[in-house]
Amino acid sequence: MPDLHIGGRWVGSDKGDRREIVCPADGTAVATVDEAGPAEAAAAVLAARRAFDDGPWPRTPATERGVLLLRVAEILERDRFEIARAESLDTGKRAVESEADVADVIAVFRYYAGICVSGDDGRVADTGRDDVFSHVVREPAGVCALITPWNYPLLQAAWKVAPALAAGNTFVLKPSELTPSTAILLMRTLIEAGLPEGAANLVLGAGPDAGAPLVGHPGVDLVSFTGGLVTGRAVMASAAGTVKKVALELGGKNPNIVFPDADLAAALDLALTAVFLHSGQVCSAGARLLVHRDLHDEFVGELVARADRIRLGGPFDPEAEAGPLISARHLAKVEAYVAAGLAEGATLRCGGGRPGDPGLRDGHFYRPTILDDCMSGMRVVQEESFGPVLTVEIFVTEDEAVRLANDSIYGLAGAVWTRDTDLARRVAARLRLGTVWINDYHPYVPQAEWGGFKQSGVGRELGPSGLAEYQETKHIWHNTRPRPQRWFGG
Ligand code: NDP
Repeated sequence: MPDLHIGGRWVGSDKGDRREIVCPADGTAVATVDEAGPAEAAAAVLAARRAFDDGPWPRTPATERGVLLLRVAEILERDRFEIARAESLDTGKRAVESEADVADVIAVFRYYAGICVSGDDGRVADTGRDDVFSHVVREPAGVCALITPWNYPLLQAAWKVAPALAAGNTFVLKPSELTPSTAILLMRTLIEAGLPEGAANLVLGAGPDAGAPLVGHPGVDLVSFTGGLVTGRAVMASAAGTVKKVALELGGKNPNIVFPDADLAAALDLALTAVFLHSGQVCSAGARLLVHRDLHDEFVGELVARADRIRLGGPFDPEAEAGPLISARHLAKVEAYVAAGLAEGATLRCGGGRPGDPGLRDGHFYRPTILDDCMSGMRVVQEESFGPVLTVEIFVTEDEAVRLANDSIYGLAGAVWTRDTDLARRVAARLRLGTVWINDYHPYVPQAEWGGFKQSGVGRELGPSGLAEYQETKHIWHNTRPRPQRWFGG
């Protein structure tokens, strides 16, 4: 069956282009998919445009849209193991992580099914006139281009698709060229759930060929993009040409601040999860450890011992605790950042290379790495390596911790560890971050907004704001007793 979904039909690439998808854990081919270019991207936009302008979905009552989203959640639940397996094969991530991702995806569809109606209710504005009925309503934004990365392929798609559909939009989804399989399964799910023809369209392919034409297309009203900073800037600039609404979820270089009075067992354990989960390929990874001077030696020593024991392996290896990086290119990027850190004076405490295990030779594995004696100005501290690399900086005062944490062009997420509630709240208030965890790291819920300050992005996903991103606001002024005004006398 062809893999592109345009205007209610599964179609192949116009030019017959195909791409082999490879599991990053061992290099085995897991799928071959059709590859779209500008022509297919334009066709998908036109299909979404027709479905928006003339199709039933934007005019479907919110309650019915909610019912469809619940059906999507049920089908995802039924197929969760098949979907998780596909995600693990594309990304190399452990099966348990993919299963947790699918559970989160189901929760996101259920959440937006629930707030579908309440997000649409609008309000009556007081005009001070009894002959005027003035109301403010929320409408779908229109045709949405949804562009997603490879690290959480299905999850990132769901964070966009669920609210976009809840608000009554039509869309074209463009997943990363490296990890298209679960986007195909999601599209099948939407069709099985009964979504009208043309409301959901899927193009696969490389960013410049299949993504960029969506961003520049005048038929697209809104672009929601998750990915790297450099691509995000290009997307924003291109979208400016047709003044589209733009939502950007970009990177992060996230601080994890540990004060001496913290619950150290929990802080240590979660410091590992913060940075090494999914081998650091997480936008909110706690890649910058800011540790109080009095704590440094003991805390970092124990962290190094535990990081050194993390077992690497493929997605279905029951012993594995972390998987590979997504590609050889990405592995080379991580290696270059570690080399740059060492050249700038960091001390390598563990990792710093590929594992010796011959069983891992065919995968893009990189050992959990801790760089000590880091300074805020180093490239490895400031730029996102997006790999299993933790940098360690020391602070002494509360002000210094805050200053170091905020010394970044990014502002996505971070944590503060202390038993002192006043201190925790003071620091949380001063951090220029979209999410602050106190005595925890990484949890999120669909009910709460997610997104970044500064160059980590524009707009918010999840929560009520995640729905509002996909809506336009319209004021309707209804004069119930019109009469001439005589503004111009004659
Ligand atoms: P990229 O920015 O390279 O790609 C993201 C998506 O954009 C992919 O689908 C890509 O396609 C596409 N793309 C690439 N070039 C263009 C273009 N010119 N126009 C339109 N689309 C384009 O990011 P990665 O896939 O490498 O993902 C990793 C990055 O994503 C990290 O920096 C990470 O921080 C960030 N990220 C942020 C998250 C957040 O919530 N803030 C969550 C997850 C990741 P293709 O892959 O085919 O090139």
